[in-house]
Amino acid sequence: MTAEPALAGATTAGVLEIDLDALAANWRLLRDRHPRGAVGAVVKANAYGLGAAAVVPRLCREGCRHFFTATLDEALEIRPLIPDAMLVTLDGLAPGREAEYVAGGILPALGSLPEIDAWAAAAPGRAALLHIDTGMSRLGLSAAERATLAADPGRLAAIRLACVMTHLVSPERAGDPLNARQLARFTAAAAAFPGVPRSIAASSGMFLGAAYLSDLARPGAALYGVNPIPGRPNPMRQVVRLMGRVLQVRDIPAGETVGYNAVWQAARPSRIATVGIGYADGWHRAHSNRGAAFFDGRPVPLVGRVSMDLTTYDVTGCPDVAAGAWLELIGPHVPPDTAAAEAGTTGYEVLTSLGRRLARTYRPA
Ligand SMILES: *Cc1c(COP(=O)(O)O)cnc(C)c1O
Repeated sequence: MTAEPALAGATTAGVLEIDLDALAANWRLLRDRHPRGAVGAVVKANAYGLGAAAVVPRLCREGCRHFFTATLDEALEIRPLIPDAMLVTLDGLAPGREAEYVAGGILPALGSLPEIDAWAAAAPGRAALLHIDTGMSRLGLSAAERATLAADPGRLAAIRLACVMTHLVSPERAGDPLNARQLARFTAAAAAFPGVPRSIAASSGMFLGAAYLSDLARPGAALYGVNPIPGRPNPMRQVVRLMGRVLQVRDIPAGETVGYNAVWQAARPSRIATVGIGYADGWHRAHSNRGAAFFDGRPVPLVGRVSMDLTTYDVTGCPDVAAGAWLELIGPHVPPDTAAAEAGTTGYEVLTSLGRRLARTYRPA
C-alpha cells in the first residue's frame, strides 16, 4: 500500500482509522428504516472500541438524540459531549449511585424490583426506562416480577417511565421463532403501561420487519459496520480500517518454522513480514495460521501463531513488501465480519477487543 499521510506519520505500529462519514451514513440509513420512531445509538464499550469521544459528537450532529451505554461510568464520561440528549445505562442502576444519575440527568434501564424500589426512593419523580425480560434471562423484569408489580402498582408511582424496552435473543436469524415469541411476550407485557413509548430492536431487529419497529430503536454494531443480516449482503458502510506496520521482512529457507510452537513450516524458501500488532492489541490468538492481510489489494497469508505484540505474514508473493510497509488487517478486503469468521468469533468481539495501543485516527479529522 502506498504511504498515506495518516499512516506515514504514525508513531505506532498499529493504526485504527475510523471513517466518521461512513458512521454518519450508517446512522442515517438506520434512521430512514425506522420512519415512525426515533433511532438512538448504543455507544457502550467506548463506542464498540472506536472511541466515544469522536463517535458521540458526530452522531449528535447527525441528529441522534438518544444514547445508550452499559455502565454509569461510561455515561458520565460522554454526558458533557451531549448535554441535551437522552442518555441511558442499559445495565440497570449502579447500587448506591442514584445521586450521580440524577446529577448527570442519566436514565437507568430498571431491570429488577430492587432497582425499581431504589430509584423510586432516591429519585422520586425522575425518569427511567423499564427493561422487560422476554427470553434473554439476563437483565430485565421476569414474568413473576411483573406479576408482583401488577399487584402493587404504587411501587411505580414515583417513577416517570420514559420507555419500556426489551432485547431480542436471535434477531440476526430472521427465521428464528424466538423473535416472534419475544415480540408477543413484549406486546403483552407492555400493555400494562399504556401510552409509554416502546423500544424493541437493536441493529439486527431493525431488519426483521415492521412489527419489530417501535418508538425507539437501539442500534450499536450496525453503526460501526458489522453486518446486521449475516448471510446476506451487508447494507452498512465499512467504518474501520486496521493497518499494521511491517517491522521487518526476512528470508527463510524451506523447512524453517515461524513463531511459537513452530505451527507453520515453510514449504519453499519464503519471505516473512513481521507486523507490530498482536493479541494484546485485540488481534486474537485464534487468528493463528488463518486468513490473510492485504497489501495493495493482494492477500498475504497469516502464518504461525499470533503472539502478544507481533503477527507474521507470508509475503513471498509480494516482493514489494518491505520494512515500513502497511498491511490491512481489517478494512475493505477484510471486513470485521470476515476477520471474525477467521477467528471463530463475531464482528462485535473483533471491534470491542481493539486495544489501547492502536492509534485511532479519524476522517474527516
Ligand atoms: C448492546 C445492546 C444493544 C445494541 O445491540 P447491537 O446488536 O450492537 O445493535 C441494544 N440493546 C441492548 C439492551 C444491548 O445490550
